[in-house]
This record gives sequence, structure tokens and C-alpha cells, in this order.
Amino acid sequence: MFHKYQDSFLSVAVSQGVATHISPKVMDEVSVEAMLNEAGVNWTNGRIIFRHLKQFFGQSLVVSEKKRREYFGSNDFPPEVGRETLPDKTVITFWWKSPDLLLMNQINVMVKPEDLEGVKAVDLCIGGDHGAGRFRMLLKILLRFTSKPAIVKRYEVANVLHSKDDIDVLHKTVLEKIIEGLRKIYDGGRFIVTMNEDRQLNLSFSHSMSENLTICDVPIRLFINGDLKYFAQMLGREGMSTSWCMWCEAHPNQWSGLFNVPMNQLWSISKQQQFVQLINTGQLKEARDKKGIVSLPLIDFIEPQYYIFPQLHFEIGTVNNILDALRGFIEEEVEVLSDAEKAARNAKIIADVSYVKAKDKYDVFSSTGGSVELKLFRLEKVRVNQSLRDRNLSVENRNSLLLEREELDDAIASLLEEQKRLKEDAASKRKIYLSAARAYKELQQKKSKSDTPIVATVENVLLGYNISPARYHGGKLNGVDCRALMSKAKSIIPEIEAVLHAIEHPHRCSSQTIEQRCKIYRDILVTLDFIASKIRIKQGQLKDADLHELRRSIASLDYLWTLAGLSFTPKIHGVLAHASDQVELIGGIGDLLEDDLEHLHQMSQKISYRTGRIKNAIQQALSHSKMEAKINNKEIIDKTMESQQQSKRVFKKARTGSIERATQAKIERDKSRNETLVEVEQKSYSKLVTFYESEKNRLLDNNGN
Ligand SMILES: [Zn+2]
Repeated sequence: MFHKYQDSFLSVAVSQGVATHISPKVMDEVSVEAMLNEAGVNWTNGRIIFRHLKQFFGQSLVVSEKKRREYFGSNDFPPEVGRETLPDKTVITFWWKSPDLLLMNQINVMVKPEDLEGVKAVDLCIGGDHGAGRFRMLLKILLRFTSKPAIVKRYEVANVLHSKDDIDVLHKTVLEKIIEGLRKIYDGGRFIVTMNEDRQLNLSFSHSMSENLTICDVPIRLFINGDLKYFAQMLGREGMSTSWCMWCEAHPNQWSGLFNVPMNQLWSISKQQQFVQLINTGQLKEARDKKGIVSLPLIDFIEPQYYIFPQLHFEIGTVNNILDALRGFIEEEVEVLSDAEKAARNAKIIADVSYVKAKDKYDVFSSTGGSVELKLFRLEKVRVNQSLRDRNLSVENRNSLLLEREELDDAIASLLEEQKRLKEDAASKRKIYLSAARAYKELQQKKSKSDTPIVATVENVLLGYNISPARYHGGKLNGVDCRALMSKAKSIIPEIEAVLHAIEHPHRCSSQTIEQRCKIYRDILVTLDFIASKIRIKQGQLKDADLHELRRSIASLDYLWTLAGLSFTPKIHGVLAHASDQVELIGGIGDLLEDDLEHLHQMSQKISYRTGRIKNAIQQALSHSKMEAKINNKEIIDKTMESQQQSKRVFKKARTGSIERATQAKIERDKSRNETLVEVEQKSYSKLVTFYESEKNRLLDNNGN
């Protein structure tokens, strides 16, 4: 209507006074989509808003929905939708996009011909994660250049609506289809783009006869990212992930101080296949020999060394380890303990000490004590029995041998009796110890917040830095809070230390203990921060000096972690033994990390919210795909950024020099981390000993054996 009779329409509008301040211009297709995307408004609500605006202003402010549909029409690669019914009648809906077909379909949307100038390699990273009731997979493509930043695109390639993170369900639904697509890319191994006369691009993964001009022909590398649980699922190690390493065979008790794992101890697909065969034929039975292998890797063409070290989960895990240790220390050695708690702790220490002694006695018997005599007596008895078989033996000699045999039998019986007694004693002392430990733990768990006022005060210190106990997930800090605690450790920990020093009661630990603890925890956090800053460097920006500092920081972490008496988890082993080698091998892993997956959950959830009203699963998946394509659309991204920039401009003027300040802050942070690195390398820290351990050691020394 408006366009057909534009002039007459406008003159009426002006005369009616409805168009005084409104230009006849309407918001274009890209602007409307950018606005709806950023605000997370779904179609239905969008229509309602536009209707109100139109009624109020007497004219439409945006281009028609029909035009918007035409503009973005078939820009996306539509997913395939499926449905699976489990034995318990649960219906799972899911969709997927084959990675190879997706990339071939999207090449013209992804890049313009001139963008491909100077591409030197293409990295593909495929990740999976379960969160918020869905399993999702993300394909990230990075076009690498020598002299400019990578072109990066992300595509959700699988979405399974199921509350449980169950590998069997993934298998039945999307995994095999995704792997099949990846295999085609791997088998080709090249990223080859040709262009026809109409400047239309065509992507293939292997060489073929084509009359078109080849404008890009570079190798493709494949990577996997996600958390250790996902790695375990993909590598055929379901259920074993907690105690073994994904990258090497080293036994957990070798993990402390292990920085270099020899090549022949690293896992490879072929080595794992050999192990599975030995397990299946019954040649490997013990858990110790199976080394965490359960079944074949699901992807047999991506080696474990290309499973990207999960830096984000490492940060979350280790920072929470430190916070838990700090909290435990405060609860046991700074808080005022109730008499019941003290009694329970003492009972545990005493039971622990008698168990250790009983076990020692049994161990001594089994190694150097009675068991050696037992063996000798038994050999002696064999000898006597042999002599007795001699038919020419005199009666006198025979009687003496019989007597000797009787004495040996007595001695053997009494040693066996002693062995049995020691064994039973150790077993019963162990039972007593375990029940005392349980009782103490139960008492601790019963405590409420008001029973631990100092822990609560310390949590308030954290709150002052926006590290919020309200954001705890089951008592844990989330990723953002972990990064804040690491980067501000030099301010936060001294503040906590001051709180602890101010507590005065006769059973509080010494000031020196508080100082030692806080110093080690602070420096572990600073070291973790330094490590994070190096592992997060993107490919192409990594310098030799970074790698050198990363290795030094990792050695510091091992030293401090040992002194703090913290346990060597698979994550800690991963950073000590594998992270720096992987960073060196790939040339920087900062843009291959699993942070994208966390981001995907948020983005995908936002889309799900916008498509939530659609009841039909197929329609919902198609809509999801279209919305994601818009989020990835270069025009919409530019428009959104432009709008955000404009709104910031006024604000920015008041803050001139913010870039200089940020640079200055970074220089200072690096300097401060370096100071800590040098200080830790002096190795002047002492081992932390808990009150529990020192009491136990005192009792063990005092009444000896
Ligand atoms: Zn390892």
C-alpha cells in the first residue's frame, strides 16, 4: 500500500500529524533481524510489537515479514530430524547436520572469493557437551592465514533432547552420522575451493576434475574439544575417566613430578586397538594392566594428541580444589570447634594411628619378619621328609628326624597363627578407623552456616570481589568466578589472611601456619592464572618465550601442589605432562578450547526459547537452523556491533585512554605474575602439615613400635 501510493499516503499522514517526526524510511531486513536476535524476541512476539508500533505511528516502521523471509530465505543448511523410542518408551527427538555437507553448502555464505586469499590451512574442531537437558555438538571452522587473524565460523551440528548424558543414546541418535561426515573430510584431507564464471564457490575435500578455477587448496586438520568426560566417551573409556589419563599410560601414582612422557608411553589409536584385542582375548585381566581402556575409540582417525586440553574445565576444577582446601583448613584449624567435634577428631586420629601400627606389623611380618622364617621352616621340612624316605635309615636317626619334623610343624603352625592374628588385627583396626572417620565427617556435615562464622566471613570477602557464593553450583565456583579468583588472588588472599589473623581463641592454629597456608594458596592461584594466560594464546600469536614461561609455571605448579598436599587429579596430570607439549605441537590452542561449547549452550538455549512455541519437532529444528544462520550472518553481526558501538560512543568519550589503561594493566599483571614465578622458583616454601597429620605423626613417634 505504502509503496504503491507513497506520495499520497505521506501527504495524508503529514496532514493528520502522525508523521511529523518520523521519516518515511523503514528498518531494513538486516537491522530488524539484528534487533530481534540481540533482544531474543521470538516471531510471535515480534509481530505483536510491530503491530503496536504500526498502530501508534500510523505506518509500519519495518520491512514486511515477507521481504525478510525472502532476504534470508535459504541461507542456512537445513538439519535432518529424527526420533528414537527407548525401551522404557521415552521418546527422544534430535536433529543433526552432516559436517561435510554443511560446509559444502555454506561455503558461499561463509566467505567471499577474496576472503580466501592467503589461506594457509584449515582447522576443524568438533566438540560435544551435555547441559541443560540437551546434548549438543559444535563444529568450528578456522581458516588460518599467515598475516591476518583467522576467519572463524561455528555451527551447531547435533542437538539431542535427552536429560541424561548417555553414550548409548548418542550412538543411536547422532554420533555415527556426524562421525561418518567427518570421516569423509578426513579421507579427502584438503580444503579445495573452486570458483565458476558467476563467482560461485564450490568446496570439496579431495582433488577432482574441474574446469573451474581453483582459488584455495590447503590441508585440513581435525581436532576434538570438550571436557574429560566427553573425551572418555569418545575414546572408549566410559566409567574409567577419573583414574586414568586420556593421553598416556602413566599410572596415577607416577603423576607427581611427571613433565615429560616418552613417546612410547603415549596413547595412539592403534595402540588402544591392540589393548582392546588383548582384553577381549582375556590376556589383560587386571585393572592395572588394562590402564583405563574399555572399548574401541569411536573415532578411529583422530589421534588422542589432537584432543584439546580442556583448559576451562581445568581452571574450574583446580581453583575449586584450592577453595575447598582453604575452606577445610579454616573449618578445622581456625573456627571454634565444639567439644563433640574435637572428641570425634581425636577418636579418628587415635583409630588412624592404631590402624597404621597394626598394618605396619602385618607388613613387616609379610616382608622381612615371620614370613621369611616360615619359608625357611617349610624348606627345612621338605628336606626332612626327603631324608625320611631313605630305607637304610637307622632307628636312631629316624627318631631324631621325626622329632625334628614335629618341632618344625609346631613352629610353622605358630607362625601361621601369628600371621593370621596380625592380619585380623589390621582388618579390625581398619574397620574401627573407617567408622571413626565416618562419624567425624557426619558431624562436620551437620554443621550449619552459623557454626562456621569464619568461613562465612571469608565468603563475604569473595562477595566483595563479585565472586558470589550465590553463584555456587553445589558449593562450586563457576568459570567466571574461578577466573576472577585467579586474577585477583594477590588482593583477595591477603584480605582473607587478615580475617584469619584477627581470630583469637586458644585452639586456633599459629599465625605462622596461617601465613604459610595463605602464601601457598595465593601463589598457586597466581601460577594457575599465568598458565591460563599462556594456554589461551591463539594459534599464530605464540612466541618461544611464552612456551618457555608456560613450562616454568607448570614446574612451579607441581612444586606448590605437592607442598600443599593436594591430590594429583587427571586434570593436574594433564596440565603437568601434556598441555605444554600440545601447545607446542599445534602452535597455540587458545582458539580451539572448549569455551565455545559453553557459549553454544547459551546461544542454543536462547534460540530454543525463541522457537519454543513451535510444537512440531521438524519445524522447530528448521527454525532453529534458520535462526542460527542469522546469528552467524556477517551482515547481522556487523549491524549488531554497529548498534552497540553507537550506544557506547557517548559513554566512551568520558573514558578516553581506556586502551592505554588496559595495556598498562596487562603489563603490570604480567610483571606481577613474573615476580611470583621467580619467587616460587627459589623453592623456599615449606610443606603444609594439617593439625590432623601433625597430631598423628606425634602419636606415631611418641610410643614408637
Ligand atoms: Zn598422561
